[in-house]
Amino acid sequence: MIIKTRFAPSPTGNLHIGSIRTALYSWLFAQNNSGSFLLRIEDTDFKRYKKNSIKNIINGLKWLNINWDEGPYFQSKRLDRYNHIIDNMIKKKLAYKCYCSKEELEKNKTKQISMGKKVKYNGKCRNLSNFIYNNKPFVVRFRNPDIGKVKFEDKIRGIIIFNNNELDDFIIKRTDGIPTYNFCVVVDDWDMGITHVIRGEDHINNTPKQINIIKAIGANIPIYAHVSMIINKSGEKISKRFNNIDILQYKKEGYLPEALLNYIVRLGWSHGNKEIFSLNEMKKLFNLNNISKSPSILNTNKLIWLNKYYLNKLPKKYMINYLTNFFKKKNININNGPKINDLYNIFHNRCNTLKEISNLCYIFYNIPDYSKINLIDKYLNLETKIILNKLLKKITLINIWSLSIISSSIKEVSIKLNLHFSKIAMPLRLAITGMNNSPPINHIVYLMGKNKVLQCINNAINFIVLNNKKL
Ligand code: GLU
Ligand code: ZN
Repeated sequence: MIIKTRFAPSPTGNLHIGSIRTALYSWLFAQNNSGSFLLRIEDTDFKRYKKNSIKNIINGLKWLNINWDEGPYFQSKRLDRYNHIIDNMIKKKLAYKCYCSKEELEKNKTKQISMGKKVKYNGKCRNLSNFIYNNKPFVVRFRNPDIGKVKFEDKIRGIIIFNNNELDDFIIKRTDGIPTYNFCVVVDDWDMGITHVIRGEDHINNTPKQINIIKAIGANIPIYAHVSMIINKSGEKISKRFNNIDILQYKKEGYLPEALLNYIVRLGWSHGNKEIFSLNEMKKLFNLNNISKSPSILNTNKLIWLNKYYLNKLPKKYMINYLTNFFKKKNININNGPKINDLYNIFHNRCNTLKEISNLCYIFYNIPDYSKINLIDKYLNLETKIILNKLLKKITLINIWSLSIISSSIKEVSIKLNLHFSKIAMPLRLAITGMNNSPPINHIVYLMGKNKVLQCINNAINFIVLNNKKL
């Protein structure tokens, strides 16, 4: 059997971490079994359709390198196929038209609730002859078996059994003529030769309905694997409607696709105690047996830890490329500052995210605006002005711009003023970077270049003078 899996998102919102995990597991399972993986957009519920969702889904998958072998297929383009099958089902009495009005259905519901019964369609139109109400709007309902059970073996949760009398004759085609999810998914999985359906456990209750349709139309029953929910630290579930963090937001925050994939694969799947998985390892090791039944808890610290790990490990070329693009977007001319290669060397193992690195690099192409910086009075004041003046003189005198000469010059100032090195470094750091935290100050000074360092120290001194005049 050739394994075929699919990712079948509805374009009703952004791609969140739970959906991406489903996509990843389905893709890895196919890869692990030399099978194929397809992408299908389930876009028949036009009312819930959100603009840009499809673009967001495709961009998210592409960013993470989850490549589909077939598709994207769109359900909205397959309506004729669904309707053809529904017409046949009506002919064979496997489905029927239901003309009940909303009010009638509502009444029935209230009655059932008041009698303490399970809310179900009461079957009123099951045996109507079709031409009676020819002009009235109708839905098409599936004639669900009244008796017996639906049993399936879920690859993650084991044997699952539903009694048919718990299910009702659910709608497979709405009054607007559009077939519903539970029906389309069955036809598609059948037509597209899907062998394994890997999806979120929120679909478990749909599975018996789908299996009953599969049996009615003579399709093959795929193997199911329902993955448990993802929750946040407070135990709230993460889904399209709750706590939805768009996957592309992680990209904007400077996370690497390698780190995010590694993080997501471990949200519910394990391979012994192993934490780091390259893409090839994931493809080689992934299986459905080691997926956990319990909910997975989001842990941002772990994601940051992984991101840092990959930032250190990634080829230099990759990061330099990223930084170059970042500068381009900000319209920064990289010839007006240090070489990106040099920036990379001092920053890549100090930061958690690419965004942090790029923000740090940005200081080399920017003049700090002291009036916008918090706590500036603490570091740029009349006392530190003395230090800055000394540094200005000392740095002006440096002829050979080398790291060791810069380091010893700053040290000399600290000795001369009888101040701890950090007391010198802090105002200098603030003056030239506008930040109170940076890699070693001698490296920053060196990379920034003499002219810019002198210009910034001058600016800082002027700022102090002006600030104190105002008082
Ligand atoms: N379209 C469904 C969703 O986005 C998934 C369907 C399935 O995987 O069977 O929740
Ligand atoms: Zn009816």
